Order: sequence, then C-alpha cells, then structure tokens
Amino acid sequence: MLGYAGRILKVDLSSGSIESCETPERLARAFIGGRGLGAAFLYKEMPQGVDPLSEGNVLIFMTGPATGLPIPACARWEAVTKSPLTGMYLCSSVGGFFGARLKFAGFDGIILSGKSRSPVWLDVVDGEAELHDAGEIWGLNTEETEISIQRKLKDKRVSVASIGPAGENLVKFASVQVDMRSGGRSGSLGRGGVGAVMGSKRIKAIAVRGRGKIEVADEEGLNSLARELRKELKLDEVGTPWLVDEINEAGMFPTYNFQRGTFEGSRRINAKAMRKFVKRHTACHACSISCGKTTVVVGGRYDGSIVDGPDYETIWSFGPQCGVDQFEAIVSANMWCDLYGLDTISTGNVIGFAMECYERGLLSEKDTGGLELKFGNHEVAVGLVRKIAFREGLGDLLAEGTLVAAKRIGRGAESFAIQVKGMELPAYDPRGAWGMALGYATACRGGCHLKAWTIGDEVVARRYERFSTEGKAKLVMDFQNLRAVEDSFGLCVMGRKVIGKEELARIWAITSGWNVSVSELMRIGERIYDLERLLAVRDGISREDDTLPPRILKDPLPNLDGSTIGEENFEKMLDEYYALRGWDRQGRPTREKTQELVDLLET
Ligand code: SF4
Repeated sequence: MLGYAGRILKVDLSSGSIESCETPERLARAFIGGRGLGAAFLYKEMPQGVDPLSEGNVLIFMTGPATGLPIPACARWEAVTKSPLTGMYLCSSVGGFFGARLKFAGFDGIILSGKSRSPVWLDVVDGEAELHDAGEIWGLNTEETEISIQRKLKDKRVSVASIGPAGENLVKFASVQVDMRSGGRSGSLGRGGVGAVMGSKRIKAIAVRGRGKIEVADEEGLNSLARELRKELKLDEVGTPWLVDEINEAGMFPTYNFQRGTFEGSRRINAKAMRKFVKRHTACHACSISCGKTTVVVGGRYDGSIVDGPDYETIWSFGPQCGVDQFEAIVSANMWCDLYGLDTISTGNVIGFAMECYERGLLSEKDTGGLELKFGNHEVAVGLVRKIAFREGLGDLLAEGTLVAAKRIGRGAESFAIQVKGMELPAYDPRGAWGMALGYATACRGGCHLKAWTIGDEVVARRYERFSTEGKAKLVMDFQNLRAVEDSFGLCVMGRKVIGKEELARIWAITSGWNVSVSELMRIGERIYDLERLLAVRDGISREDDTLPPRILKDPLPNLDGSTIGEENFEKMLDEYYALRGWDRQGRPTREKTQELVDLLET
C-alpha cells in the first residue's frame, strides 16, 4: 500500500501482548485513514455499551495518507475512542511530529485495548514496540514526562504523547499532550477526555521514532505539489487570535458564560495585544504556515509563564468566558492546562459556568472552599486549573464536566450549562450565526465547532444570511462531510483555504496511486459521518440529544436584537438536515444505509 506505512500496531494492555496487522486496503479505500479508518476500527474492535473508562474501551491513534508528507498543513492525526465526557463516540485530532514519526516507525496507527495492572509507557521504534514500567514517571506533568522519556532513550527527536495528573485522575476532559519539547508546534488531543481514557488504561505515554520512508506512487509529483503548496501556504504571523476582533465585532464572542456576545476587554486580549508576548513562530512537521506562537510572560503575577499558544479558543475560554482581560493570566492558564493535561476549552467553560453559579448564589463560599468565584477574578480562574487536575475541593465537581456539575448543583443550573451532549461549547455563540447552532447540535462528538465551522460563510464572507435557517442544513452537512475527509487524510484546518477537495484527490493519487473523483471523495465523507452516527446511535443518541442548552435556544443575546433562534426554527433546520442525510426523524441512519455500512465493515 503506497502512501501508507502498511501496518497497524495492536497493544493489549491487560495481557501486555503486542502484535501488528496489515493496514487493510479495503477499509483504507472505503474510509481513507485518520478519523475514518479510526471509526471503522472502533466499530470492529469495541464491544457495544462499554463504559468509556473500563477495560472494554478501545483507544485508537490513526494517521492518514497525507500525514507525514513533505507538504504543508499535513501533519495531523486522530485519536478515536468512546468519550468519558459524552459517553459516546469521540474523535480528536492533533499535529506536531508524532503522526509523521509513527509512520516513519512503520505504523499507520496504534490500537490500545484492555487495561494495565500498573502504569506503563509504550516505546515504538522502527517496526518494533515495547511496554515499560512507568512507576517512576506516573505523577509527572506532561513536559516532565517527555523530558524523562527522551533522557531514557537518549534521543531528543523522539515524539511523545503523554498524560499529566488530570488524565491519571480521570478528569473527564483530560487531554493528551503531544511534542511538548519538540522545539516546534506542540499540541493537544484536547476534546472529550482522551487523556482520561489513557489514564484509565494506565498508559502514561507513547514514544515514537523511526527512520523509515513512506513510499509513494509518484515521488516527482509529490515534490512538485509540495513546492507549489509551500509558495501559497506562507507564514501566518498572527495565528487564530485574529478571530478575537472578528467574532467580538460580530457580537457573538461568548462573554460571562454566554450571557453576552461582546467583551469590553477584547482589545487587551486580541492579536495586537498578544504580539508583545510572542517570542517565536512554531510549526508542525513540514509545515510552512507556522501558525504556532510561543508566548512568554516577563514580570508581574504570572512571570515566567510560557506556552505554545494561546489559540483563539483558549483566549476565549480563560478570557471573556471567565470575564478575564489579563493576557498574562490567559497564558498562565493555558500553560497549566498543557502541563496538567487538560482541554483548555472545557476547562475555561466549566470555570465560567461555576462563576455564574457563584454570582447567582448557587455555589457558596463553603462550596468553593472560600474562593471568591466572581467573573474577572483571574487568580481564582488560574488557580482552579490545578484544583480540577488534582480533583481538589470544588475542582472534583468541575472535573466531571459542565453538564454533570450542573445536574449536581441543581436549582436551574442546567439551563446555563453551555454544552451539547456533555461537551462544552467553544468560542462562538450560535445565536449570531444559526448554521453554527445546527453544527454544534449535530457534530459527531458533541459541542464542537470544527466539524462545521460555518462562521466563514455566515460571518466572514457573508455568503449566507446569518440570522436565518435558509440553506443551513445543506451548508452544515456539506461542511461535515468535507471535514470528515480532511480529518481522515490528516489535513490541518489551516491548510483548507488552499488544499481543497481537488487537491486532496490529487494527493491520494500521487501518494497511493488511487484515483478518485471529487464526488467519490465526498461520498466517502458522508459514509464516515454515517458510521460515526451509527456508533453514537449504538450508545443511545437520538433526536432529543441533537439540541442546544435552553439559554442558547430560547434567550436572545442582549447585544444582538432578534437573534433568538427559537425551537421552531431549530427543529426546521434539524428536519431538513436529517432528510438531506437520509436519516429518519429520530436521526438514525436508515436501515439500508446501516446495512450498507455493516456489510462494508464486516466482510
Ligand atoms: S497550520 Fe499550524 S497547526 Fe496546522 S499543520 Fe501547520 S503549524 Fe501545524
């Protein structure tokens, strides 16, 4: 199989057995790689109805045919599993160097099953893999873990994916941190609690390195495509923080836990404000965009804070969501999230939620352990990161995620728990762009913006009327299908402005020699989304879960007149969406669609 490493590593942590199998060509042609192939393996390997933190859950790391190529924006790979935060299917992607090095080590993916009796870490090198005792590194933060493993292996060019204390303590939104000390772009498998799944399996880290080469069908074509794309995908000086001004001006910058859509302190946390903290640009494997920014705080309360970030989402989660306008505090919160291994979006969201509970009298100082949990109190927000990671005091409740915390607090808190299917919503208030409302409600992994980022069409390019249902079902569905394809190849969202469907088809032809039309690629995207839905339906997801919190659905945003979505409008979009997808009124893929998928997966 050209373009692929050709083998998948299988590690049973219960027995300690390690084996590998060929990457199945039939499944790769049907589901590409990365997210698609990961979902196919999850369907085949994970028994129905397992508890996400039990031995029965399966954790899959999977690269795509573009991962590790010498072309920009193609460094990404996926983790696929069942989420402890949502109790359903989860996919999460990250860049860095890990994916490329896994392929150079001879593997397209790793399938982890079972649960180790004691902490271990996995070393993968040039077609071999070995489990090691992790007793000495259990308890370390992610950076210390990476340094320790690199020292043991006497190799600084080894990529490490590790969990911190949050994953060990089974925080429901614990992340896996990747390439923390690579010198390039580091990253997180952030959303949905992949870190907690690793923690439950007692696998602290996975290290990968390899000297192999990925054979492709057309080496010359690949080099010329790489040259072409590098010219177009140039250094991004600003990175995602450009969105702070854009989204604030659009009136949909969620502030004080989605109570407003504009933040008065936005100028203190926007891309311009960030500039003075940026020390250098960082890049993933072979990427000319270098969207990563290493920021450093010198002096003051947060002196010495240093992080590869923050991205727009993190600026929002510890900024307006918590009413904080101190950029230094945001850098510090981002740094601690990365070190402890926490998803910054969910962490900031749940802290903002707790602040609203406190201000409304639903949490007392007794509940907070004496903390004055008011919006704008940046010291408390930053301090809560540690409490969540170690499940100390109030942190233990918040570590369960916003939905569970709201249920336990009660007295109406659920109506302003801003999540979908248990996953905390990120940095765009969908009342300002109704396509995002449908996108959040139907995203395959819960409240996620990346599966259908309709902001580009509704707010930036204004191709659609944003306060309208018109055309949104089709917009969302097409976006989701395309993102499924992109995630399966290993393409980064930052590359999609230049690397479109045609380029992806060209990449597959150049690497694997498989010629497909753009419409066939889109059919594969639809197939992947159907499979992900099938996995979610197996876990009990149906129409009633494809919804939004009452605040988002029913209340107007005070700063945007007439921006109430309303149940009727929302249900109309949902009906149209299900019909376009060929799902029934409960949001289940039809019997024919299901049978087609099952036949494909089981033959
Ligand atoms: S654009 Fe940024 S995140 Fe994407 S591959 Fe390049 S450096 Fe990595």
